[in-house]
Amino acid sequence: MGHGGKLMKPVEIWEGHVKRIMENKKMSFEEVGDWAYKCILCTSCQGWYREHPPAENWQEKQTYYRTCPMMDGKEFEISTPGGLMWVIKGYLDGIVPLEGRALEQVFMCTVCKACEYECYGDHGEKITNIVRAVREKLVEDGNVPPLVRKFLENVSSQGNPWGEAKAKRNDWKKGVEGLRNYAPNDGYLLYVGCVGSYDDACQVMPRSLSNLLVKANVSFGVLSDEECDGNEINLLGETYLFEEFRDRNIQQMNKLGVKKIVVLSPHSYNVFKKEYEGFPEVIHYTQLVWDLIQNGKIKPLKFEKKVTYHDPCLLGRANNIYDEPRKILSSIPGLDLVEMKRNKVQSFCCGGGSGNFYTDITGSRIDSPSRARVREAYETGAEVLAISCPICMLMFKDALKAEGLEEKISLMDISEIVRASL
Ligand code: SF4
Ligand code: SF4
Repeated sequence: MGHGGKLMKPVEIWEGHVKRIMENKKMSFEEVGDWAYKCILCTSCQGWYREHPPAENWQEKQTYYRTCPMMDGKEFEISTPGGLMWVIKGYLDGIVPLEGRALEQVFMCTVCKACEYECYGDHGEKITNIVRAVREKLVEDGNVPPLVRKFLENVSSQGNPWGEAKAKRNDWKKGVEGLRNYAPNDGYLLYVGCVGSYDDACQVMPRSLSNLLVKANVSFGVLSDEECDGNEINLLGETYLFEEFRDRNIQQMNKLGVKKIVVLSPHSYNVFKKEYEGFPEVIHYTQLVWDLIQNGKIKPLKFEKKVTYHDPCLLGRANNIYDEPRKILSSIPGLDLVEMKRNKVQSFCCGGGSGNFYTDITGSRIDSPSRARVREAYETGAEVLAISCPICMLMFKDALKAEGLEEKISLMDISEIVRASL
């Protein structure tokens, strides 16, 4: 392929593609037509037939991998990213009413970005922006599936997806010794987010991470009145409500003089990095933990188990962070890290993104993304499925139960594994 008169190598083309996906900005509904019509229904977004560079011999590899978590194993066209583009084109043309299954399809997309890496059309990196902009119009029109409406109402009234009391956001802190509220001059503010704060099973993540940071003498504090980060409501198209949360969060951080934020959730990382202009520096907790291991502040001793790691979409494909979680795991003596077939940029979504962990449009059927993914983890022979996202934890916890794999493979957050190794 030519580029500026110079023959580009495949890896350069690939890196340019990744850069465009990283830098892509939000789109307005008025712009959707410019891009949605570029889908030629070539079907390449339905699955991967090859590995991506820089994998060894990537051009010759010819394995088929399912790509999109909306696809249900039957591969009806409507359940594919291209099918979704054609539903949207029909809507723009006034031919396809967005109701029933077609409306659900627009809200089922988890914004996992797998299709953006694989699309052969000119609009590849715009697919999730197209979906978000159409949702924004549907939210404005009041035309959304019932559970999406409930999700947005709950966040609006109580600041969390379940509509739980605001005070319950602090429940996860119970019993964590040495934890305190953020004070000026602390090194980091630990931001937890809704799922790690409210979901009983996922509370293990902020507890474990806080214990680890306290033990490593990290200077950090938490908020007594944390607000929702707004990632899901932004992706669901509720722009005005999102902007209220964003502005409140920016004001709160400025008032406290926060310089660095360490986030538990890749979803918080994504929205803070991409939608919060003038916000303090943000890092994901795996980046901090890897730093602490490198500096000798955390010294893992032993964890003699076979472990496989699931890349969360919003850490990997959306923000290009694949290495730190693997470096942490590989640095633990005795730990045997094995990869699932779909890993890194080809990771398969847990099915919970874009509010699906609550709205459940991706569902819990046998070929649901979360169940397919835990089967894939189990097939590696791993004893532990390692995660670094509270939404993945929530989805996989239920999927392991549905698959009868709860006793066969343990679900552990990376900070839990590090703590178990000390
Ligand atoms: S972003 Fe993910 S869920 Fe949405 S259409 Fe693309 S592959 Fe499917
Ligand atoms: S790869 Fe792109 S152009 Fe091809 S069907 Fe999918 S969305 Fe359409």
